[in-house]
Amino acid sequence: MESTLNKYRKDNREQIKQHMKEVFEKQRLEREKQKEEARIKQREYRAEHREELLEKRKAYYQKKKEEINQKQIEYKAENKEKLQAQQKQYREEHAEELKQKRNEKNTCDCGATFVRSFKKRHEATKKHQNFINK
Ligand SMILES: [Zn+2]
Repeated sequence: MESTLNKYRKDNREQIKQHMKEVFEKQRLEREKQKEEARIKQREYRAEHREELLEKRKAYYQKKKEEINQKQIEYKAENKEKLQAQQKQYREEHAEELKQKRNEKNTCDCGATFVRSFKKRHEATKKHQNFINK
């Protein structure tokens, strides 16, 4: 014997299916509406509190920056020898590359060309000084 409910389900399968579809669709639309409303509210909030939020973000980054700097200082102090060894190794492995870089010809804004490793010396020249003091 079939229960009344089962019989009802069987007889109305299509209608039930259709009904469920409509219910789901309604729920979906409701969710989207809520999402959109939340977005609008958020946007309004951001617009109203623009300055405040900007300040907060700045303060956050400032704080983070200090933290990061502090960590870097600590890390460097704790790993001084290791870092020096790494630098030494890097210099040795890239000796040729670094040498080329040092000997790269640069054209200065003043029009003169100089080798990179003599940048400081070039910047002290009369020609360059005349140019930047113009
Ligand atoms: Zn120059």
